[in-house]
Amino acid sequence: MIFPFTAIVGQDEMRRALILNVIQPSIGGVLIMGEKGTAKSTAVRALAELLPDIEVVKGCTFNCEPDGFLCSGCLERLKKNESLERERKKMRVVELPLGITEDRLVGTLDVEHALKKGEKRFEPGILADANRNFLYVDEVNLLEDHIVDLLLDAAAMGVNTVEREGVSFVHPSRFILVGTMNPEEGDLRPQFLDRFGLCVRISSLQDRASRMEILKRRAAFDAHPEAFLKEWAEEQRALARRITDAQQRLPAVSVTDFALERIVEITTSLSLDGHRGDIVMMKTAQTFAALKGEPSISMEDICEAAPLALRHRMRRLPFEEIGKESDRLSEVISGISMGI
Ligand SMILES: [Zn+2]
Repeated sequence: MIFPFTAIVGQDEMRRALILNVIQPSIGGVLIMGEKGTAKSTAVRALAELLPDIEVVKGCTFNCEPDGFLCSGCLERLKKNESLERERKKMRVVELPLGITEDRLVGTLDVEHALKKGEKRFEPGILADANRNFLYVDEVNLLEDHIVDLLLDAAAMGVNTVEREGVSFVHPSRFILVGTMNPEEGDLRPQFLDRFGLCVRISSLQDRASRMEILKRRAAFDAHPEAFLKEWAEEQRALARRITDAQQRLPAVSVTDFALERIVEITTSLSLDGHRGDIVMMKTAQTFAALKGEPSISMEDICEAAPLALRHRMRRLPFEEIGKESDRLSEVISGISMGI
């Protein structure tokens, strides 16, 4: 039994970042940085219960999107004139364990079977399970380099290709990457850091009332988990409904020139590399607007989106202390919102 997402005390920014990604997966995931024992993993695992359904090709292990990019298996079925039926499946949180092997990640191809029988037999890996789902890596900064490279490749292409002795198998692999890490235990490579759409930093709650509430809820859950889940069921249903409502409203939220100008004003003031920050910030602000039921992106949405989308993309200035780049970001944002 999993502790309910809505019963987590505080850590609003982390919860919001996760929910935004459920509503709009193309935001590109979230990196959660914080010391041990700050409910990072609890929150990610608890997210599973709130995830909506997606439409997939019936019987396909790779969750192929019926009108999207199809795996080699679905293509073979089409070639044989089989029709691809559709079904609805709940999105999941798939975990990637730290010591994973390359084969377990990308999957393996049975070449002998292909040569003898003329048909492809593919043993799916985690990248197959992860397609259109959340892919969660706890202690992501401890992941081995060659595994990170494979993840980066799949994330950049949106597909996973396994090739052996002239036989190949291809399947879509678009996942929402969620990583948690304790920054005291090492950094992430800049290319990997940039792959995460959003970044949140969390710390343990310091006020007494919140800490007591954490203890009370934990004790209640441990003593009578079923009763506790029942108590939070309505809250959980309400949040799941807010998520699906926001998803439906999202395409209609207009992105005005006013909003784009403000976004670019912020990103150019910070001299960021590349354009990924701008794009993620726009999508995040749009998703905030959808969540609040607004017709277009407001300045408030932009101010809320900026730290989530930009914090981990800012270069530290020479002699600047760790964490001080966030102060610089806040100054820029408040300067711009005061100016309008
Ligand atoms: Zn398929």
